[in-house]
Parts: sequence; C-alpha cells; structure tokens
Amino acid sequence: MDAQVIIVGAGPAGLCLARALAQRGLSVEVVERQAQEALAQPAFDGREIALTHASMRTLRELDVWPHLPPDDIAPLRRARIMDGGSEFRVDAIDFAHDRLGTLVSNHLIRAAAWKAAAADPGIRVRTEAKVEAAGSHEDHAWIRLSSGEILQAPLLIAADSRFSETRRAMGIPARMHDFGRSMLVCRMRHTEPHHGDAWEWFDREQARAVLPLQEHLASIVLTVSGTQAQRLREAPADVFAREIEARFERRLGAMELASTIHAYPLVATWAQRFVGHRFALAGDAAVGMHPVTAHGFNLGLASVEHLAQAVGEAQKRYQDPAAPALLARYQRRHRLGSLPLFIGTRAVVDVFGNPRSIMQPLRRAIIEAGRRLPPLRLALAAGLLDDAPRPASPFAHMRVAAQILRPRPMRPTT
Ligand SMILES: Cc1cc2nc3c(=O)[nH]c(=O)nc-3n(C[C@H](O)[C@H](O)[C@H](O)COP(=O)(O)OP(=O)(O)OC[C@H]3O[C@@H](n4cnc5c(N)ncnc54)[C@H](O)[C@@H]3O)c2cc1C
Repeated sequence: MDAQVIIVGAGPAGLCLARALAQRGLSVEVVERQAQEALAQPAFDGREIALTHASMRTLRELDVWPHLPPDDIAPLRRARIMDGGSEFRVDAIDFAHDRLGTLVSNHLIRAAAWKAAAADPGIRVRTEAKVEAAGSHEDHAWIRLSSGEILQAPLLIAADSRFSETRRAMGIPARMHDFGRSMLVCRMRHTEPHHGDAWEWFDREQARAVLPLQEHLASIVLTVSGTQAQRLREAPADVFAREIEARFERRLGAMELASTIHAYPLVATWAQRFVGHRFALAGDAAVGMHPVTAHGFNLGLASVEHLAQAVGEAQKRYQDPAAPALLARYQRRHRLGSLPLFIGTRAVVDVFGNPRSIMQPLRRAIIEAGRRLPPLRLALAAGLLDDAPRPASPFAHMRVAAQILRPRPMRPTT
C-alpha cells in the first residue's frame, strides 16, 4: 500500500483533510494535477471567502490559521440584505459578538493550507499527477495516474471539485443544477466608505454584492448572464469601472479596478451518495454550493471534521480506516448537516435571483419580515456565529439561537 489514505485533489478541502487525518496518526498521500508552485503560491482567483466562527476554529485546530497574513483577515461585522428600496440588516453587535465572521481570500487559504500540509511528515503530496481511473477491491482502493502508475490504499477520498472525475469513476451520480448565470468577482477601490458593511443587493436583472476588505477597498460580486460576464471581463479597465459604478448606482462613489477579474459559471452539485466501498467524498465533490450564501468552503470544512472523526475512530476500533459503519456515519452526519443549507440556498436563489416580477412582492415581504421579526435575523446570525462543534442535525442552529437569546447578566450602569 502507498499510504493509509489517498486523497485526490490538493484544493483547500483536500489539504485541510490531509492535515486532520495526519493529526490522527494516519499516513496520507495527496494526488494533485497542478504543479507544486501553483499550490505553494496560488494566484489571486477573485474569491473572498466568508468564514464562519466554526470554520475559523477548525482552521486553528489544523494549524492553517497561523499561516494566514493577519493584515489580510477582514472582519465581517454587519450584513445588509437589499432588494430595490427595501433592506434589513444583521449586526454582530446585536448578538453581543464582535464579528459575524471573517473574510479571507481563497488563494491565501490555499497557500496557508499548503504550508501546514507541507510541514507535516505524515503527508506526501504528489503534484502534476492527474487521476484517470479509480476503483476498489475487497481490501483496498486504487487510482491510476495519467503516467500509468497505480497507487493503492485502504481508503480513497475524492476532494477534486464539484465536477469530480473520481466521483464519476467510482460510479456515484450527482445532481447538478446550472443556474444559467455567471458570477463576476474582482477587487475595486472606491471613494465613498462601505462602513465595514457587506451588501447582498438583489434586483431584477442582476444580483450585486460588496464584501468590505479595507477602508476604501471592497470585493465586488456581480451575478449576470454568461454573455454579460464575458463582455465585462474583456472591457478595458476604465470602461469596466464606469459600468460597475453605474450598476452600484454610485453608492460607493468613483471606482477603480484593483485586481484581475474572474468569472465563475454558477452550477450547484449534490452527490447522491457521499461514500462507497473504501471510498468517500469531501469538500465540493460532495456538495457544490451556489456561492450566494457563502457556505461552500464552510461546508467543506464540516466534511473535513466529520470525515476525519469517522476515519480516525475506524482506524482505532477496527484498524481499518474504511470501516463501512463509520463511513456510513460520516455520510449521515454530513448529509443532515448540509441539506438544509443546500435547499435553503436554492430557495434564496429562486426567490431573489428570479428576474420575473411576480417574485418582487415575495422578496419585499421576506425583507420586511427580516426587519420586523428577530427570528429571521437570529437564524441568519446563528448560522454564522456558531462556534460549537459542527452541527450534526438541521436543528442545531436552534441551540445557537437559544444561546444568543439566553438572558445575560445586567451590566452595572455606573
Ligand atoms: C465566486 C465564489 C465565491 C465563494 N465564496 C465563498 C464564501 O464566501 N464562503 C465559502 O465558504 N465558500 C465560498 N465559495 C466556495 C469555495 O470557494 C469552494 O467551496 C472551495 O474552494 C472548494 O474547495 P475544494 O477543495 O473542495 O475544491 P477545489 O478548490 O475545486 O479543488 C479541487 C482540486 O482538485 C484538483 N483536481 C481535480 N481533478 C483532479 C484529477 N483528476 N486529478 C488530480 N487532481 C485533480 C484540482 O486541480 C484542485 O486543486 C465561493 C466560490 C466561488 C466560485
């Protein structure tokens, strides 16, 4: 055997999972088609990842967090949800917290995960190695690389993106939903302040978002048709800036492009099974979320935590990291934990991203309810503020909501 576990994909989920398994004493071989330089110094890819408190805790436990440059970690204090002229806000202060979450660039998370994995003697990363075929036998799983080499281990894990070829090679179907839109992301400098607010701003033809990074610097997110995304990407920088100013109704003042522009086609995926014989899925390969609710990598880290727990226990109890009962437990926990978010995100996109005017009254009603009804704001905040171990049940948010609502001792008035 080449290792106890083979992971296909050295993306953020694959590398974090490698760390979590190595911390439990397992030997791990990670197989990645990209070159080592691309993993050690990943290029900016436009994504700013909103991390929940639970994800920050997991990254600390994996020793990934200390490799993030402190000046590039932006606090997320307040979120504004807008539709036309209506809006409601979720503020960390209302929940006695200093932040709802934290924003960190995806390429910095990848670089930090690489550093943590490269320093771990229990992990070997094979780069420029593309997996072309995969399968499993009674006592081991195997992959064949494009070089023809065959690797074997008791357990194979696919963390090779939402379009996972390993998942397909192992015969696991996935539901895919193509939203027929693209998400355009880049950084822009602007003259008017964002006051540290994140905006999610819906409209008939487009969805806009602002993620506050520094005082006059924000990540701009625009959801438009594929053709519009392509036209904007190819526009000269000053033409692009004028158009973004207009699309944001000059609320951020004069704007200037401060990074490369990236476009992502919006396709959500849900694997019909998360495990097979001597096989498991992690990260986007299990659940590929629409980014509007900013939960893809947060769920990826939930899969890391649940899968590492199950494999670590299987190894201890049966000396086989692929014990079926414990893989099944991982599948149950991760499906239960992610299904409500997956369905909820789909509903948000259907209601708020639907250009048909018939949806307008519903959107207004939801926003009005958000303004008046603490429970809706509470539910949103609970999802972000949860710092407890990963929820295994869809009702876990209620526990966090109850904690937030718990009466606090009165502060002295003098
Ligand atoms: C615009 C945008 C904004 C987002 N914002 C947020 C956010 O705010 N919060 C959040 O939590 N999430 C967010 N996400 C989601 C997040 O980026 C993803 O969930 C996360 O990057 C997925 O990580 P992964 O490791 O599972 O997959 P990937 O990052 O896709 O990595 C897969 C790896 O597998 C490798 N690979 C693929 N096939 C093979 C093969 N055959 N052989 C060898 N190697 C292979 C690839 O080269 C790659 O390195 C956002 C996504 C987008 C697009």
